[in-house]
Amino acid sequence: HSKSPSLHRLKCVQVLPKQALDDVNFATNPLPSVSPDLLHQMVYDALVWTSLNGLVVGDRSLKKSGTVPGVGMVHAPFSLLPVNFPESHWRQACELAPIFNELVDRVSLDGKFLQEALARTKKVDAFTRRLLEIHSKMLEMNKKEEIVLGLHRSDYMLDDRTKNLLQIELNTISSSFAGLSCVVSELHRTLLNQYGKYLELDFNRVPQNTAVTGFAKALAQAWKDYNNSRAVVIIVVQPEEHNMYDQHWLSMFLREKHGVRTIRRTLAQIDSEGQLLPDGTLLVDGCAVAVIYFRAGYAPSDYPSESEWRARLLMEQSSAIKCPSISYHLTGTKKIQQELAKPNILERFLENKDDIAKLRKCFAGLWSLDDSNIIKEAIERPELFVLKPQREGGGNNIYGNDVREILTKLQEEDFEELNAYILMQRIFPVASSSLLVREGIFHQEETISELGIYGAYLRNKDKVIMNDNCGYLVRTKVSSSNEGGVAAGFAVLDSIYVN
Ligand code: ADP
Ligand code: MG
Ligand code: MG
Repeated sequence: HSKSPSLHRLKCVQVLPKQALDDVNFATNPLPSVSPDLLHQMVYDALVWTSLNGLVVGDRSLKKSGTVPGVGMVHAPFSLLPVNFPESHWRQACELAPIFNELVDRVSLDGKFLQEALARTKKVDAFTRRLLEIHSKMLEMNKKEEIVLGLHRSDYMLDDRTKNLLQIELNTISSSFAGLSCVVSELHRTLLNQYGKYLELDFNRVPQNTAVTGFAKALAQAWKDYNNSRAVVIIVVQPEEHNMYDQHWLSMFLREKHGVRTIRRTLAQIDSEGQLLPDGTLLVDGCAVAVIYFRAGYAPSDYPSESEWRARLLMEQSSAIKCPSISYHLTGTKKIQQELAKPNILERFLENKDDIAKLRKCFAGLWSLDDSNIIKEAIERPELFVLKPQREGGGNNIYGNDVREILTKLQEEDFEELNAYILMQRIFPVASSSLLVREGIFHQEETISELGIYGAYLRNKDKVIMNDNCGYLVRTKVSSSNEGGVAAGFAVLDSIYVN
């Protein structure tokens, strides 16, 4: 895949471990003023900075690092320098956030649309079926959410061929890295402030990242609207969480900037400690809950027994503000993303023609697998497609030859099973050269980047209190890797250098 020189990152400096520095060939170095010594100094400074400033995750090789804070930390994997990103595309991505927020809200209110769009998925995907069953129950009860809170992240890649910004997906549950993405932007601004003169880079071109303060503000405002000063925000967590510091960043801002207390509980704990009062108040461990913020519950593995499903249902039935509600969760599924990309569907939910055009412009090709022509095409040219099940959290998609094999097999043996998936145009993003730092070691790699834009939406009955774009996340991974998750071990945290 060819590189585009104009978008090529400034960071193509060949760096090898210290002992091999003599072998470095600087003939292709576009930054002649950067000596290997200076680069080592930068990496060293960056590593110290991450440790002093909480750009950390739990170290999986150490016991308790996923359960006890302050024990067994390692710096989050990061890119030494930010990735070049065109200003126009940066603006475009930011502008889309409030439009997607509004779209999610509108779609979530159409229970019939959600049920119908997911009806065939439900038959072959037990996880989606369980979510839909909770959704059905809420529809039957005529449950109304007066206050809704969405903390989303819409992810994009820059298509190398067309130079279009294309959406990968929209996350409506457990959108992660609002905390650490801000810290990595600060790291880059700090490094460029110090070393920018040698690199001919200006730290002001790394946008200040407001993700964590934006999310904290939205959670705090929701908490306020709930109007019970003794109530808490509950963070629904996995029993083991190596990305806990990302979450603690948010809790810290809630506490220190807004005076809001958070508690952390697993789904199983909520099942045993949770209780619904007749007026709908959710009590957990005797504490009234104003806002339920899910950082778990998006994957089948989060529900190992009926206990977790009971907790999810209990929370949904309560009057607490759910971030997200079951309908917001379902709106974020890949199947709904694909349905919304069909002709004339956006028009059902939004009135503003400009907004609709802006959304459509960032949609990649998306297909359901009831179309035998597209199945045939994907079997013939699988490298042009990604096959996606209804899953979150990275590592679930199917690429290349596996697409051909699965489609061929299902087409012959189990046609219904095809409904578990959607098919998406494979995006080939602009490639760069990056210095990736992982566990204190740096590597130069050819990489691709994914830009996530956070969005916060708060509505109280028919009053929209907040509809903001707030901050961003960049994840950079080696070009040869298919998946992109940082937590899943594929990517590093990054930020952008706007130009
Ligand atoms: P998840 O909800 O598991 O994060 P995604 O749709 O974001 O699912 O896919 C995971 C990763 O796979 C993305 O971060 C991206 O790196 C890669 N990916 C997803 N869709 C595409 C696509 N259409 N083209 C290229 N890469 C993709
Ligand atoms: Mg996702
Ligand atoms: Mg994703």
